[in-house]
Amino acid sequence: MNSINYQGQTIQPSKLVCIGRNYVAHIEELNNSIPSQPVIFMKPNSAISDEISFDSKDEVHYEGEICLLIKHQRISAVGFGLDLTKRNVQAKLKQKGLPWERAKAFDGSAQFSEFIPFNDNLESLRLELSINGELKQQGGYDLMLFKPDVILNDVKGNFTLEDGDIIMTGTPSGVGAVNAGDEFVGKVFSGDNLLVEHVWVVK
Ligand code: ZN
Repeated sequence: MNSINYQGQTIQPSKLVCIGRNYVAHIEELNNSIPSQPVIFMKPNSAISDEISFDSKDEVHYEGEICLLIKHQRISAVGFGLDLTKRNVQAKLKQKGLPWERAKAFDGSAQFSEFIPFNDNLESLRLELSINGELKQQGGYDLMLFKPDVILNDVKGNFTLEDGDIIMTGTPSGVGAVNAGDEFVGKVFSGDNLLVEHVWVVK
């Protein structure tokens, strides 16, 4: 089983519950419609990796996301995550109304920073993703269609959350292609206070 880091402990999430279409500007950039309830999909434990490898045959996009680590059915920690997506594959699946796993749940499609304990105000959470020194994505609680507490209740109403499971809260606008050699720097803030930062260099 793959693991993530939480205060020096390794934790093995049984599943990653992901929210799609949670930021209006991102919905618009992909020409999707605004959902009336959270759009949910999942990634398995096998999707977790800490290395991004360039994929020359598919158009892999980055999606920077605020991620919530669950313990005792509650949000216990936050981290920065990348929901890597084969955008060309997803576009075909969407057209046919088929499930997204081929585009979203492949090995290496979930990348995480360390997770930091968090029991502060969720409203202060925001993220930034820079690539090669250029700010590409920013957003957070204010811009989310469905806020973390609403997402958590909705998810819990449908799926049992085990300790160590992760909710990925969706991506703001500014998604784009992953290229070999790119340096990704993902950050999560509480207001102006940097909570966690992680650097990836694409192989
Ligand atoms: Zn996403």
